[in-house]
Amino acid sequence: MKTTLQTTLTLLLALSSFACTTTPQKPTYAIVIHGGAGSFSSANSPEKAAIIKSDLAHALQIGQAILAKGGSSLDAVEQVIRYLEDNPRFNAGKGAVLTAAGTCELDASIMDGKTLACGASGGTKTTQNPISLARRVMTQTRHVLLMGDGADAFAKTQSLTQVPNSYFITPSKKQSWERIHKRKRAKQNSDAEPIATAATYSPTHNIFGTVGCAALDQNGNLAAGTSTGGLMYKMAGRIGDSPIIAAGTYADNKTCAVSCTGVGEEFIRNAIAFRLSALMQYKKLSLQQAADHIFKHNLKPNHGGIIAVSHTGQIVTKFNTRAMARAAANSNGFKEIHIFPNPPAD
Ligand code: ASP
Repeated sequence: MKTTLQTTLTLLLALSSFACTTTPQKPTYAIVIHGGAGSFSSANSPEKAAIIKSDLAHALQIGQAILAKGGSSLDAVEQVIRYLEDNPRFNAGKGAVLTAAGTCELDASIMDGKTLACGASGGTKTTQNPISLARRVMTQTRHVLLMGDGADAFAKTQSLTQVPNSYFITPSKKQSWERIHKRKRAKQNSDAEPIATAATYSPTHNIFGTVGCAALDQNGNLAAGTSTGGLMYKMAGRIGDSPIIAAGTYADNKTCAVSCTGVGEEFIRNAIAFRLSALMQYKKLSLQQAADHIFKHNLKPNHGGIIAVSHTGQIVTKFNTRAMARAAANSNGFKEIHIFPNPPAD
């Protein structure tokens, strides 16, 4: 017969081991990536979805390898995004969407959560990897945001590879542009017509492929970055949220690192990236609660999505479009790669 003391001890032991197995250990590193929010018109093509997922897996592996061996979150973010910029299936670098004028104008930004240092470039036309240009703006200038020709000229001084604008234009993006251009010409629409509203950014539109990454490294430092060609058939000269710190990108070691994708104008108006961080800092919300709050109160259906990692390594991906390509991993062996809302349907 067990004494009451023995029974209590057995119970306590069982409870503590339950607590040990169910309380997830804080990861030493964590990384999350997006490949854009939108409709993903290839929804009916499992082959295309599989290719995008394998691209994301590759990007994740690049970032994880850096973080696992003690590299910085800034390096992980830059290298992941460089890979996606060079990959023609995403709307960043090669494969970017075209402006109404038929050229590519690229936006990017990066932020260091440890120091709040940040750098960005908007509307560049010849720098092959805008994310590296953004990082050089952060580390080699006293400014935060450079634009257009001046930004490309600065990239040249930094020995960043320059390419003709045609390098970025792929046949499939050119075809999409031609379809829209024909329609616009038929309707004799002006290029100044507002194109980035929730209505035009509908789930039936195939807008997809902006890229972003947020990471926590083994030193507890957060970083985030975003890179895009912007919105298809945007006005020449239009700058979206991706190079705007506090709108499309933000990182602060006290809270989180976040990269956004979607209708840039909405993310700028609502200062979405900073809002997420501010909700954590001032309202003491968890990352998940802060993200839920933003999607309930600030973003309307089809506006887009966010990926974020908190200073404790919590990962959140959330979107209100039909799809958002995303991948995440941490040092505890957690790993996921999805495109559609319900993972089992992926
Ligand atoms: N947010 C980007 C922009 O407005 C586009 C996107 O994420 O799809 O330029």
